[in-house]
Amino acid sequence: MDRGVVIIGAGQAGFQTALSLRNEGYAGKIALLDDEGRVPYARPPLSKAYLKGTATAESLEYRPAEFFVQQSIDLVLSDPAVALDRRRQMVALRSGRELEWSSLVLATGAHVRRLPTSGKEPFCLRTFADSDSLRTHLSEANEVLAIGVGFIGLEAAAAARAQGKKVRLIGAEARLMGRAVSPFISAWFQKMFERHEVPIRLNTAVKRITEAGVELADGSVETADTVIVGIGVIPNTELAAKANLAVSGGIVTDSYLRTSDPSIFAVGDCATHPNVYAGGLTRIESVQNAADHARAVASTISGKPKEYRQVPWFWTEQFEAKLQIAGLAVEADETEVKGDPESGKFSVYNYKGGKLKFVESVNQPAAHIAARKLLEI
Ligand code: NAP
Repeated sequence: MDRGVVIIGAGQAGFQTALSLRNEGYAGKIALLDDEGRVPYARPPLSKAYLKGTATAESLEYRPAEFFVQQSIDLVLSDPAVALDRRRQMVALRSGRELEWSSLVLATGAHVRRLPTSGKEPFCLRTFADSDSLRTHLSEANEVLAIGVGFIGLEAAAAARAQGKKVRLIGAEARLMGRAVSPFISAWFQKMFERHEVPIRLNTAVKRITEAGVELADGSVETADTVIVGIGVIPNTELAAKANLAVSGGIVTDSYLRTSDPSIFAVGDCATHPNVYAGGLTRIESVQNAADHARAVASTISGKPKEYRQVPWFWTEQFEAKLQIAGLAVEADETEVKGDPESGKFSVYNYKGGKLKFVESVNQPAAHIAARKLLEI
């Protein structure tokens, strides 16, 4: 007898799993759990349009609350899962309630990495509440210091600057978005920030935040009335580890996103999965990865086993640039630029050993879509 599907985590991956299960015709029970007390919502606008004040809270919701009722998806928003009983196939919730499963999907996501803080708590950006409190605060802010030159630090800095704030950036890396893009794109974005009068200090790690301000690794202290920290995330693997599932940097799965327990899947940011484009096990933090993991798992649970093997892609918006990346960044040995970087519309094709590995398109959506096809294995 089918005991239904329990999905833990209602971010992109969890929400998409529930939606795709119904789209696949799955008619059993679905419970979708989260602890943020909000209808599932999209995170990408939190560091872009929502932070800039050009999107409303309602526009972030994937579907209104009634949709989940119509689809018979039991949305449990304020009673988080605290333990998995694999033998009885039951999830224990904080309230003491238990939910049975035939298939369990761990879509537990990740939480922000924090700096040791003894002074004023800095802002971070992961949840709706994080973005909402920063957005409210920004209206009063004068000077913003963004820490981290990954996607979050750069998007937040651009959003604050667009609101006329005095903004500066500090990051540990030698170049912008160093793990996700080519040196050409890092340099182009750095110039763009400079044009927008955002000074950037690279190769500068922040040690901690004290009463005096932001303390750098060399002992010097920087101050600003608003400090935003975007120094990466840590996958939420505690439930899986407590239940003795294999965990290595994330919850380990096979190519079907199945964990070491065949009734349990892991999807999205929390899943360390075999990825043909990475050439082995990896964990990817992106909307595409989360949504496509979810679709594959929903298909498998609905009786049509599907391996995960989509081309990875990413995007970011900073000032006037929409950057779309197809494929996973590697150290390329050959780079070809098509279009005119001066005009702000161009693409960078990155090759290794004569093979196209990843393509970065700035304000060229058609080139990005074509690149995704070109990269298919
Ligand atoms: P991230 O992309 O991992 O970048 C964090 C950056 O902070 C790295 O450059 C890291 O340098 C640096 N860092 C680490 N410790 C530091 C320290 N003590 N002082 C200064 N810099 C330090 O993470 P993120 O930007 O915080 O983003 C968080 C998550 O949101 C990621 O999953 C990201 O993919 C996702 N996100 C994605 C998008 C998008 O796809 N457009 C947009 C927003 C957020 P090292 O590499 O040297 O450690």
